[in-house]
Amino acid sequence: MPRVLFFIVFLWLGTVYADVITSFDPHGKKEVALTFDACETRTPSYFDPVILEYLLANKIPATFFVSAKFALRNPKELAEVSRYPFIEIENHSYHHYAHMESLSKEKVVEEIMSTQNIIKKASGRKTKYFRFPAGNYDKKTLDTVESLGYKIVHWSFSSGDPDKNIPAERIIKWVTTAAKPGSILIFHINGRGYTTPKTLPVIVGDLKRRGYRFVRLDEVL
Ligand SMILES: [Zn+2]
Repeated sequence: MPRVLFFIVFLWLGTVYADVITSFDPHGKKEVALTFDACETRTPSYFDPVILEYLLANKIPATFFVSAKFALRNPKELAEVSRYPFIEIENHSYHHYAHMESLSKEKVVEEIMSTQNIIKKASGRKTKYFRFPAGNYDKKTLDTVESLGYKIVHWSFSSGDPDKNIPAERIIKWVTTAAKPGSILIFHINGRGYTTPKTLPVIVGDLKRRGYRFVRLDEVL
């Protein structure tokens, strides 16, 4: 391999950490994981009632990544959701800082552990997976979160649902085409998944017809 090419490959690999989970081994089965981010940053955020009702009424297994600010704003709803065993609740930090890699180690620990306690209090669930806000991290932050016993779970490809400019039809086509066994799908359930109330039933219906079933992350990781 020419030295220049070697360098490019090396640099490219250098930014990808093996420890961040972006898919799972489906063991030959047609399974995908539906995940939803319940983030709150500066504006108050709430569960999207249409998405929530759809998942609960149809008993669709899913994993929610909840930030502490969101949990504190929606304690009743979170307690209600936790009554459904097919919904998994996981950790998405306290403040939802878009760049946790710029925080001190102590601050990172506080972001994770305070959220763990708040979610536990609201839902009775002990979180074990963490998703970085906006997907940003570096090696140091990753190591810190892992030292707390967490596995980092991101997503296989972006659905594009926080982008108001992407039409529903395009999201449906993109997600149903890109999904494959072992994919971790990501949507937003905090009101920022602008088209998700419309696209989710179509996407789930399409995948089900093609023989897929949905799993919680803790069933497959
Ligand atoms: Zn988020």
